[in-house]
Amino acid sequence: MAREYGKVTPSILEKLTEALGKNRVLADEASMEPYSWDETGKNFAVMPEVVVRPGSTEEVQAVMAIAQRHHIPVTMSAARSGVAGGAVPLRRGIVITTEKMNRIIEIDEINRTATVEPGVITNDLCKVVAERGFLYAGSPMSTLTSTVGGNVATNAGGAKGIRYGSTRAHVLGLEAILPGGEVIRLGGKIRKGTWGYDLKDLIIGSEGTLAVVTKIIVNLEPLPGRTADLLVPFASIDEAVLATSKILSLGVSLISCEYLDQPSVLLTSRYVNYAYPFQERAGAFLLVQVEGASEEDLERDCDRVGNLCYDQGAMEVFVADNRSDSADIWSVRQNYAEALRVRDPYFVSGDVLVPLSEVPAIVKAIGERAEKYDLECVICGHIGEGNMHPDIFKPDGMSVKEWEVYAEKFFADLIRVAVDLGGIGSGEHGVGFVKKPFLIETKGRVEMALMERVKGAFDPDWILNPGKIVDDHIQEEGTP
Ligand SMILES: Cc1cc2nc3c(=O)[nH]c(=O)nc-3n(C[C@H](O)[C@H](O)[C@H](O)COP(=O)(O)OP(=O)(O)OC[C@H]3O[C@@H](n4cnc5c(N)ncnc54)[C@H](O)[C@@H]3O)c2cc1C
Repeated sequence: MAREYGKVTPSILEKLTEALGKNRVLADEASMEPYSWDETGKNFAVMPEVVVRPGSTEEVQAVMAIAQRHHIPVTMSAARSGVAGGAVPLRRGIVITTEKMNRIIEIDEINRTATVEPGVITNDLCKVVAERGFLYAGSPMSTLTSTVGGNVATNAGGAKGIRYGSTRAHVLGLEAILPGGEVIRLGGKIRKGTWGYDLKDLIIGSEGTLAVVTKIIVNLEPLPGRTADLLVPFASIDEAVLATSKILSLGVSLISCEYLDQPSVLLTSRYVNYAYPFQERAGAFLLVQVEGASEEDLERDCDRVGNLCYDQGAMEVFVADNRSDSADIWSVRQNYAEALRVRDPYFVSGDVLVPLSEVPAIVKAIGERAEKYDLECVICGHIGEGNMHPDIFKPDGMSVKEWEVYAEKFFADLIRVAVDLGGIGSGEHGVGFVKKPFLIETKGRVEMALMERVKGAFDPDWILNPGKIVDDHIQEEGTP
């Protein structure tokens, strides 16, 4: 049975306006429209009843207290670059945007931490800390648009994940607000701990379903030394995977190991107007970034990686050791999603994760399914982590509604294969509501029941981002 929620009445609007001020409360359709959808696509849009723009922890607390009292659903919204529908207000109600909570509060050089509000654009943090000689290593490919808060909520990954891990690996402390308005502070400027259950790690990746994140303390790394980028074309994915596995075991200081298939290179190279060598002949491309303490070390390690790639059948090895060449070869990977969006605004992005040894099997399965469903498909991925992104395009003539169902079938099929190969249905984009049915199907009853109990413990009235990750149904009496 569907849960019933309260409505945003004129008296609730008045209470929100009293708490935040008039220009922090948007209730007309034109102003609210951008908050009704995210990068999953406008076809999934749901209009909120009100959008609020708090500027502080206290203001978030006030909104949450009002929402809890009147049982109104609350959806957090950051840059809305998410591709699983996480920021879409599925049950309408209140959208809280973090756009006014965008201060970098402190950079602590002794502890190597930065403390930020959730609405800080990830790349802004990267730039500011780089000026002080640090690297914020948690940035995804959407670093120019997405926020640190959104990255925390989705446990975002990125091209440097193989070296530094996903966002969770960089979050040392969190301040968060529970549905009733209580504040909890978890972790801090500390780097380890066995001090009860780790609620911080539970909130990271929970896509706004457990608590509202209002402050984040992140770890800062030293800036890498000299780097060089290798572009390596292979005939097929099998050789690229074997080379990746050997590179990972080589002991060189590796920062990235990314993958693009030929169709994605052909499409993106047209968009950025820069062609990869061998792009008409190679089936698979590796993009490898290596770090070296000195020029000699870097040269030696690039040679080691290059020779190893030749041993695994590389068609050629191109080394970019200056900024301009590096920027050129990375431009194809960095502009991949934009190129796809220009090719087809309705393209749907997948995010399967499998053990590295199973990457050839999942790529084969993707190809077979694309053929079965008669779909054009391109694949890129964080191959070093076994995280592949198959992206499919809407066939000409198919309606958007039909496409939603068709694409869902394709990915349901694929996620089942990924699970059979020992993987999961999302490496970094999250579940939101678009992948929820597959999560429920593949997780098993016991684990889903535990997740529902965790949700209920944080959010007893299920007002936080309802309908995402876990179902917000009420169990009918007598049903198991
Ligand atoms: C071109 C492109 C490239 C991308 N590349 C990557 C990539 O390399 N790696 C990757 O992981 N993802 C990638 N993504 C997906 C997306 O950018 C990430 O999921 C990102 O972390 C979302 O951040 P956001 O600020 O846009 O959050 P939103 O999309 O606004 O929100 C995401 C989720 O976080 C919740 N949320 C937001 N703020 C808070 C808060 N303060 N407290 C609690 N919950 C909150 C929302 O409710 C929602 O569930 C890409 C997307 C695009 C369009």
